[in-house]
Amino acid sequence: MTAEPVITQQPATPAEVPATVRASLSPSRAADFKTCPLLYRFRSIDRLPERPTVEQARGTLVHAVLERLFDLPAGGRTPDAAGGLVAPQWDRLVTEQPELAGLFAEGDDPAVAEFLRSAAALLEGYFAVEDPRRLEPAERESLISAVVDDELLIRGYLDRLDVAPDGALRVVDYKTGGAPREAFEARALFQLKFYALVLWRTRGVVPRVLRLLYLKDAEVCDYAPDADELLRFERTVVALWRAIEQATAQQDFRPRPSRLCDWCNHQALCPSFGGTPPPFPTPEPAADPLRDARSRPAPPGADE
Ligand code: SF4
Repeated sequence: MTAEPVITQQPATPAEVPATVRASLSPSRAADFKTCPLLYRFRSIDRLPERPTVEQARGTLVHAVLERLFDLPAGGRTPDAAGGLVAPQWDRLVTEQPELAGLFAEGDDPAVAEFLRSAAALLEGYFAVEDPRRLEPAERESLISAVVDDELLIRGYLDRLDVAPDGALRVVDYKTGGAPREAFEARALFQLKFYALVLWRTRGVVPRVLRLLYLKDAEVCDYAPDADELLRFERTVVALWRAIEQATAQQDFRPRPSRLCDWCNHQALCPSFGGTPPPFPTPEPAADPLRDARSRPAPPGADE
């Protein structure tokens, strides 16, 4: 049997969030908890700072270039045009996020030039799998959100949404990370299903395709969800949130070591690596459970 979607209004601003909503969750934070509850705590409750890495900065830059590329007339979306956007977009990002400049020693122009070249190489990977002259995205870097289970606001930023003439939706996510794909594929698919659930609940349409574009490998990974699967996924997300609530009430977030520990900023505080987490923050952070709903979720590319 195919489940019928419940169409709800998309809450665009916190003011429009229904009064029944008492928490919000982004795909990144949900995936954190699924990956390792302690990682979720460090990021969402302790809010420990994380130094941007060169890899994350490269991801943010490539996402920015691909977003601006579609501002150009279709015929002008060439590899040369994309390459020409790299340096100006990096300048813009460094102006907006001065901490990015700290990734390179002052005056180390060769390192910056090599970084920009590596971003351009990822763009070559993009052009190997897609011709942007033949595409007209419906949305780019758009914030989407929906309410599930009456109480939970789920939301996040789509890299791109394509809409076919027949109304079919294709969700596209650019992956720029250099880490082994198998270590992150489950997380990437989880995020895409999250977006598919939001779109289904807000627009009444199950996306036909969830597409991961791996720019480093110049490969495409397509996945076709169905409504029954999204209904099960919705139950999974709600159950995940209940587990987060319970862990928060009990102040019990356990480490779950995996290959992803290699990319974790917080090994020094993790018991699995001989560390001790800081005292649980007080006052209890859930005092403002909609805090996340009032702040901007991680922008595209920041969670590579
Ligand atoms: S090092 Fe691994 S187990 Fe420890 S918090 Fe990070 S992801 Fe979790």
